[in-house]
Amino acid sequence: MSIVAFIGLGNMGLPMAKNLLGAGHTVRGFDLSGEVRAACTEAGGIACAAVTEAVEGADVVITMLPSGAIVKSVYGEVFTAAKAGALFIDSSTIDVATAREVASEAADKGFTMVDAPVSGGVGGAAAGTLAFMVGGTEEAFKSAEPILDPMGAKIVHCGQSGNGQAAKACNNMLLAISMIGVSEAFNLGRSLGLDDQTFFDVASNASGQCWSLTSYCPVPGPVETSPANNDYNPGFATALMLKDLRLAMEAAGSTGANTPLGKLSEEIYTAMNDAGNGGVDFSGVIKHLSGDL
Ligand code: NAD
Repeated sequence: MSIVAFIGLGNMGLPMAKNLLGAGHTVRGFDLSGEVRAACTEAGGIACAAVTEAVEGADVVITMLPSGAIVKSVYGEVFTAAKAGALFIDSSTIDVATAREVASEAADKGFTMVDAPVSGGVGGAAAGTLAFMVGGTEEAFKSAEPILDPMGAKIVHCGQSGNGQAAKACNNMLLAISMIGVSEAFNLGRSLGLDDQTFFDVASNASGQCWSLTSYCPVPGPVETSPANNDYNPGFATALMLKDLRLAMEAAGSTGANTPLGKLSEEIYTAMNDAGNGGVDFSGVIKHLSGDL
């Protein structure tokens, strides 16, 4: 069992840390919020007063933070306090360039680092069923895998450093585009007098079939677990989808990849967010498009 420093114990980090504790690891937690540090102690972890205090003597450092700028600044502190040979796992969703920059600095200082962003949300974090997309060397992936195991159901090595973030950005861009596509199809069908369930029965068995339709259907009725059946409570909030789309568009800008539908999706989710609907599930875009939200 390892000593794990866990930095960033928010909606995702705390339940992930609880699963590490459940697997028998020692967790030394730090978060800027005192309330969160108290919750860490309550869960059986050791709450620390600073990043450096949490990291001293730890075998593994896991970060689950809001942005690339924060990740970069926290690793500035991690580098000064970590023991030789420590493994760093950044599970935050951040831009590919920062992920590669921080990992390269870690390697220069003799540390092993992977980027390991997740999908599965707060429910997956609590259940220990997250999907981890991991970027780093084969050796780094092998070291990270057993640590990630109690927190995840699926752990995929995506290639070199930064490729975990790349996979996440590409997947969520595709998800945004497909959700808008499914929503447009339902809205057009309704305008033509087509019943939602009838269209679902056709498309879910035809070439329009996709996850946004069959697992996360944006209209109430066909898929019991869809947020559409729960007044579009998230789920996956529009503000979080927009964060991921912006990272994808930043990445597309840096490589020159042509992503016109990604760009349009970002514009649509920006409008939905700016209209005060950032807390609405992203499948609520169907109502935004029809002018009902
Ligand atoms: P959150 O805001 O609930 O948690 C972030 C935590 O980091 C907060 O508790 C905050 O106090 C802490 N923090 C901020 N700056 C810090 C610093 N300098 N030092 C220590 N602690 C600091 O966010 P979250 O929902 O837990 O998301 C964390 C990451 O996971 C984000 O990158 C997000 O995009 C990603 N993510 C979230 C979800 C989700 O459904 N919430 C799903 C997948 C990925």
